[in-house]
Amino acid sequence: MQRAALVCLLLLTGCFQPNPVTGKSELSFYSDEDEIALGAQAAPGMEQESGGLYKDPELEAYVDAVGQRLAKSSDRPTIPFHYRILNTEDANAFALPGGFVYISRGLLASLEDESQMAACLGHETGHVAARHGVHHLQYSQITSVLLNVGAQVAGRGSDEAAIAAGRGLKVAQTVTALASLKYSRDDERQADHLGIDYAGRAGWDPRGMIGLMKVLQKGEKTQPNALQAMLRTHPLTTERVENAQAETSDLPPENLKGKTISTPEFQRQVARLREAEKAYQHHRKSKELAGQGKLQEAVQEEDEAIRLAPRQAPFHAGRAALKLRLNVPAEALSSAHQAEALDPGLYEAALVSGAASLQAGDTGSARASLTRASRLWPGHPAAPYYLGALCEKEGRRDAAAECYAAALQAEGESGTYGRPAAEALRRLRPPTAPHRRR
Ligand SMILES: [Zn+2]
Repeated sequence: MQRAALVCLLLLTGCFQPNPVTGKSELSFYSDEDEIALGAQAAPGMEQESGGLYKDPELEAYVDAVGQRLAKSSDRPTIPFHYRILNTEDANAFALPGGFVYISRGLLASLEDESQMAACLGHETGHVAARHGVHHLQYSQITSVLLNVGAQVAGRGSDEAAIAAGRGLKVAQTVTALASLKYSRDDERQADHLGIDYAGRAGWDPRGMIGLMKVLQKGEKTQPNALQAMLRTHPLTTERVENAQAETSDLPPENLKGKTISTPEFQRQVARLREAEKAYQHHRKSKELAGQGKLQEAVQEEDEAIRLAPRQAPFHAGRAALKLRLNVPAEALSSAHQAEALDPGLYEAALVSGAASLQAGDTGSARASLTRASRLWPGHPAAPYYLGALCEKEGRRDAAAECYAAALQAEGESGTYGRPAAEALRRLRPPTAPHRRR
């Protein structure tokens, strides 16, 4: 069935179009609109899986402004690019098809000047401009999974909660497919070249690429774990470093004259980020203590994080989760609402808000928050699990079973939510019941 659909797609819409960078004609299943839609569909899940987005309007605007200058100087200036910050101390950067480019706050904080940041964002812009992600998707079996996204969901039951859970699973497959992508050596070589080129064209010293690579090499020795994600998607080979060195040293001196190395704005923004890291250390400590069951001590650490950086939503969401575990739903709700107000896109906040409403018996609010959560992180098991509990509470057994099944499929029977979901399914769908057929 999937194979047939693939063949149809090839016959109907498979066509050749010029690559934006090389101009060479290439087979393309995706129009620009398709590619943008694909990226937009995968972005929320990829963002949540990579630590969520870092919320700081000033820093977000600054990073996006640098990115937009690179996008305008790129070979694909007509694509709407988005440059976003991942909320993780791990050093990472990646791009999704359709112009969604990410850099982690950990990587940002380790950079020494603006030209290094431009090199990094320019490299990722290069992956999008040359359509590297799309090429990989096209030529792998992943395509067949993508073809099914949406098609099956549309035909499923009419219960809103169950549809949200089902949609989550399908989108999760797209995210998994994109997350497992690895660029080839040729892709990396080309993205480095484009990063140097775009940064230079947009006014930065193109030797920022050398600086960036040196920062990564230094990190490889001093904090190898923090760099894992970055080096998995962009292995830093000696060849890449040598190529970048050769390319930038060959540039005529007039190409380097007046180019920006750094700006006071960069130094100020990065200093703020390094300051915020202190609050995040308390947040991490809180998570660690919570993992050991030391809930009261964990609350104290989260409170300290909030004192240092009161506008970071994850701290309020963490506090809400702790209060929920301590069986104080009213306090959990108020912290969750604070987190949601600061960052409406934070999965944990919507989830805890829903779970706390459920615990307090407010099913209407619980449904709204949990449905929102399942949209924010399609495929995470917690939201469908709680939606299942909600439906079961309301006596809607079929809808409950579908939600539990989604939670089970997302995590497996040994998981935190997968296990109780499996138990609930055995309760709702005993082997002799007619629902057994699938
Ligand atoms: Zn790369």
